[in-house]
Amino acid sequence: QAENALHHAKVSGRNNYQFFSKDMNNKARSRLDLEARMRRALANEEFVVFYQPKVSAENNRIVGAEALIRWIDPDRGMINPGEFIPVAEETGLIEQIGTWVLRRSCLQICEWQSEGLKTVKVSVNVSARQFKSRALLDIVTGVLAETGLAAKWLELEITESMLMNDVEVAVKKMTALRDLGLGLSIDDFGTGYSSLSYLGRFPITTLKIDRAFISDVDSNPKTAEIARAIIGLSRGLNLEVVAEGCEIAAHIQFLKDNGCDTVQGFFYSRPVPADQFRQMLVDGFLPGQG
Ligand code: C2E
Ligand code: MG
Ligand code: MG
Ligand code: MG
Repeated sequence: QAENALHHAKVSGRNNYQFFSKDMNNKARSRLDLEARMRRALANEEFVVFYQPKVSAENNRIVGAEALIRWIDPDRGMINPGEFIPVAEETGLIEQIGTWVLRRSCLQICEWQSEGLKTVKVSVNVSARQFKSRALLDIVTGVLAETGLAAKWLELEITESMLMNDVEVAVKKMTALRDLGLGLSIDDFGTGYSSLSYLGRFPITTLKIDRAFISDVDSNPKTAEIARAIIGLSRGLNLEVVAEGCEIAAHIQFLKDNGCDTVQGFFYSRPVPADQFRQMLVDGFLPGQG
């Protein structure tokens, strides 16, 4: 191969070609490689959903589960979403992967329900591309019908930045989803760039405080004041407020003292495979409470 040859690669799913200079080649190739492996992973069922408990701050009981995807690659072991979701998002594969996560999580909750275990709400992350897609409403409607899960047990987590491109369209889309009866949460709240003036217009049910505001809430008076303000804002707007990234008892104590509804984080449990989450439902208590 000539030293400064241009390499081209077909961008999957489209009919155009992109040209890469040689130093871009490795990156591009590993990206294409990752995409191919993700397609294989979908076909071979290498993706799994882990569940992390959401706990009532009032009584320490599990009230929900956040569904978090993991990829168990036969060669590389467990891969976290941070390493493949962004590429899945760029290539469009996220739409299939996201639908799979939604269906799997709804089925899982139904399975536990039919075993007579406590029913918990399941929160599923929706990516920007999924949220933008015109198919989203039909997909969610279809999965609920197909699995038989009552919509009130489903919550979708979206981020602020997804809502700001076209506020009108976002509000319409959210309203249609809410009309199905499910919950809508703003994930990582406080780190995006949405203007507070829009908050009252979005038909959401939940604010999820980003863990950046939780990590030093017990030691930094300014962070504590911000967390208090978000909790107060949620109260005023009649929204449920959830704190993510609760790692130590002092975080939980702060959030309890300040009226946060729901807490989630390593203090109680890391995200775990379905059978381990099931066991927590059976036991009725959480490892962190011990
Ligand atoms: P997220 O939705 O904000 O999820 C919370 C992340 O924080 C999870 O990382 C979780 O494992 C981690 N976490 C939970 N408790 C603690 C804690 O106490 N301390 C710390 N340091 N971290 C904690 P994970 O599972 O690696 O997921 C990362 C991100 O990937 C998620 O952020 C979400 O944006 C995305 N993601 C995960 N699953 C899916 C999915 O099925 N679809 C889409 N579109 N995105 C997903
Ligand atoms: Mg989330
Ligand atoms: Mg989050
Ligand atoms: Mg976060």
